[in-house]
Amino acid sequence: MSELRQNFATKEWVVIATERARRPEEMVRHRERKQVSSLVATCPFCPGNEKLTPPEILRSPAITDVPWHVRVIPNKFAALSRDVEPTRTVHRSCRSVNGFGVHDVIIETPDHAQVLALMPDSYVEEILHIYKTRYNEISLDPRISHITIFKNHGIDAGTSLEHPHSQMIATPVTSLQVRERFQHALRYFDDFGECMFCQMLEEELQQQVRIITVSEHFVALEPYASPAPFCTHIYPRRHMASFGDVGAVEMTDLAYMLRSMLAKLYHGLADPDFNFTIRSAAAESAGVKYFHWYLSVIPRLTRVAGFELGSGMFINTVLPEAAAEFLRKVDVERLNGTAVAATS
Ligand SMILES: [Zn+2]
Ligand SMILES: [Zn+2]
Repeated sequence: MSELRQNFATKEWVVIATERARRPEEMVRHRERKQVSSLVATCPFCPGNEKLTPPEILRSPAITDVPWHVRVIPNKFAALSRDVEPTRTVHRSCRSVNGFGVHDVIIETPDHAQVLALMPDSYVEEILHIYKTRYNEISLDPRISHITIFKNHGIDAGTSLEHPHSQMIATPVTSLQVRERFQHALRYFDDFGECMFCQMLEEELQQQVRIITVSEHFVALEPYASPAPFCTHIYPRRHMASFGDVGAVEMTDLAYMLRSMLAKLYHGLADPDFNFTIRSAAAESAGVKYFHWYLSVIPRLTRVAGFELGSGMFINTVLPEAAAEFLRKVDVERLNGTAVAATS
């Protein structure tokens, strides 16, 4: 029988449609992937075409006389602009803020054909370091209220440029969806005196049914009320409200964890399109005890349709427990041909 499950963090309901449940392997969509070259002459993100992008904000390595591994540039077609002052207007039922904000593009690699799932961990770590540096820099701007770090991989995930890249958008307002998550977490902390995410992690680690893998500093799992097949969360095991607080040793571990989760999806589900996003406390709430940052990966295997739009409820056709079991079995170290030691 199908089951409705409530997401403890958002209070949203999800229909786990076991009636039409599909075995995890049935979700694999084998598609013709066209051969991609490592260097594309017309691609603005490929090496040699640096002049086609707006001036660089940051690069790694920082030295300019060696080839870059990661570059940060302002988005040429930015959704928001850093060149205006945020001005709020309220006129009866109409309120607005002009289009102030920061919209960065992080070019993850000079190799047009590369994917995060197959990169060495040290390359992924360089990208995560760049995220953290920019995240902390932008957080210092008092005009910024919230920062979203995200990646769109593939057409179904909304990508417009093939070259591997991720983005960071900082806004002068916080959305209702994000605000409500903080409020639920704060209310839980007031009621029970503990972080709801720390409590959930403790329970999940005891039960072991939705855990995919555990490293020294991170846990990857399928959420109990997962809104989509193979939606995967990565949480720091230490309580930490902001992504900007990840320490150096933790960053190395996070790179391993992110790369191996993406590799499990890549090998297990035949390189699905996906989005990932880092949900972190706002700068003003960086040290709070009630919120816990995490990274959420959502493979785009199903489409949002009328029921989801009309009800705000998602239908997930794969049991989170079955998805976790499936992903646990994907041996990425063997498939990637790299030996990386996990602690468990
Ligand atoms: Zn390119
Ligand atoms: Zn916590």
